[in-house]
Amino acid sequence: MSVREIMAKSVLNSYKKMDSWFASRYGMNLYRGCAHNCAYCDGRAEDYFVEGEFGRDVAVK
Ligand code: SF4
Repeated sequence: MSVREIMAKSVLNSYKKMDSWFASRYGMNLYRGCAHNCAYCDGRAEDYFVEGEFGRDVAVK
């Protein structure tokens, strides 16, 4: 697995609606990719802007 640092404009996301589960209008996504590499993860199919392979190449914002 590779882990590298990348620059990001922001790690804080604002939502249009209140997230009823967390009671918040904001969320954070600190990574691109994920080391857990779960078999059912939609990130494996969608890639979510990951350069390389979703479960092997992780970028830390
Ligand atoms: S479901 Fe996807 S994002 Fe969540 S821990 Fe598993 S691999 Fe990571």
